[in-house]
Amino acid sequence: MARCPICTADAKTRATNGAFPFCSPRCRTIDLGKWLNEEYRVAENHTDDPSSAAPATNDDAEDDSSSSQQQLCHTKSDD
Ligand SMILES: [Zn+2]
Repeated sequence: MARCPICTADAKTRATNGAFPFCSPRCRTIDLGKWLNEEYRVAENHTDDPSSAAPATNDDAEDDSSSSQQQLCHTKSDD
């Protein structure tokens, strides 16, 4: 018999326990909350990277518009 990782009570098999491997939906919710808290903390640490990479994405967009302008200039000089 498996043990609930939250309260260490006996957890019934998946066939009769929709909350398996937890003993009850309540313990499954507690475990989910623990994971969400962990992910939130990790996401906070990673927030620095995306914010520093965001300006680079804007630079790429500017490069696209400036290069298309150059193409227009080339077309004019060809004439
Ligand atoms: Zn439990």
